[in-house]
Amino acid sequence: MSFLAGNTRVHLSAYSDDEKVDAKQLYYAIKKPIQDLATWVAPLNIDHYYFTFYITPSAKETHFHTEQFGGMASDNSSFFVLPRIKNAERFKKVLRRVACHEFLHLVTPYALHAENISRGALVGDQEMSQHLWLYEGVTEYFTLLFLAQHGYITEETFFEELGEKIGMMHQFPDVSLTKLSKEVFKPKHRKQYGNIYLKGAITAFALDMQLRYLQLDGAKVPSSLHQWILELRNQYGPEKSFSEEKFIAELSAIHPEISDYFEQYILDDKAPPYDFSLRMLGMEYHDLYVDEVGTYGYFFTLPDYKKGQLYFSKVKDNPLGVRNGDILSEINGTVIKTNNYKEHKHLLYDARPGDAIKVKVKRKNAAGEYRPVHLQAIAKLYKIRERFAIRPIPSAPAMTQQIRESLFK
Ligand SMILES: [Zn+2]
Repeated sequence: MSFLAGNTRVHLSAYSDDEKVDAKQLYYAIKKPIQDLATWVAPLNIDHYYFTFYITPSAKETHFHTEQFGGMASDNSSFFVLPRIKNAERFKKVLRRVACHEFLHLVTPYALHAENISRGALVGDQEMSQHLWLYEGVTEYFTLLFLAQHGYITEETFFEELGEKIGMMHQFPDVSLTKLSKEVFKPKHRKQYGNIYLKGAITAFALDMQLRYLQLDGAKVPSSLHQWILELRNQYGPEKSFSEEKFIAELSAIHPEISDYFEQYILDDKAPPYDFSLRMLGMEYHDLYVDEVGTYGYFFTLPDYKKGQLYFSKVKDNPLGVRNGDILSEINGTVIKTNNYKEHKHLLYDARPGDAIKVKVKRKNAAGEYRPVHLQAIAKLYKIRERFAIRPIPSAPAMTQQIRESLFK
């Protein structure tokens, strides 16, 4: 199967042991995002591109991050070994994510690379290029940014993934990205290979924000990392390499603060200034974030569309006193049916500690008849702990909202 993405014909083939996944399913998962991506980084300078997926059966979803799975790109193709994920929506998200990452390698390293990288072949046991921060770090960040800008993931997911990368990056010792790149196949650094996708991506994000900051400040710099990388790609291209040794000096020449950025966060081992970058967006990072919410207890409300009503199910301890099988008939005096439940659901589930609620249910008595029962409760305090979270700064300046909009535009 194939489709056109810009001027490039994209071919797709799939193999799976249990034949439950076919090329058609993959086709529908990645066609639109790859077409959007081709526009995002146009022009691609390549006539044909080949995706090959090998889908293994029965893998547990939790194994997804292990080394058995993943993708590999070369000049005009990429190859994936992935577990089949039962949840179709989740499977689609994983496919999109990995396909976009590998396809983005058509920008770098394919069309923006040093002379010592043999056109995108990123494996080998020789000394590696020092520019993995660009080949993998920028590619990983661009994947997230592209997906968020085009609505394939939400802004919340974008920040969730960024937060996870920041938290996981700090579990590795501080390391210079260029040094890690060069020595990534030596025993000392091998274990840190994964950090290229963490620190590399966060460094790219913070560099992007640095450019945006300088531009707001009136400096003559590219308006975003996306724009800058495409300019460089157009300047070099697949046939013309940049100098492995002189490239960072060349990039640093655009502005003293960019030079400083490369010095501190890419050549030296300092952690990227994500606090500053996030503050520009009205956000901040927390190693551990404790959210205090209110709750009326644990229960589900399931719709019965035929009768137009909702009933409680999977009920556990709850201060409200609802029971399994109760039919929800009123919330705070409003009659609730399946067709207006959506507007009132938050009263039941998104309470603040101390909020009050009155609920009327119909409950079956011993004789099998439904009788009205009036219930009420005050929401109890419930703490949700989240690691590596990025959250809005309360009362952030309005300016940050504008910057945030321009990032996701
Ligand atoms: Zn990659």
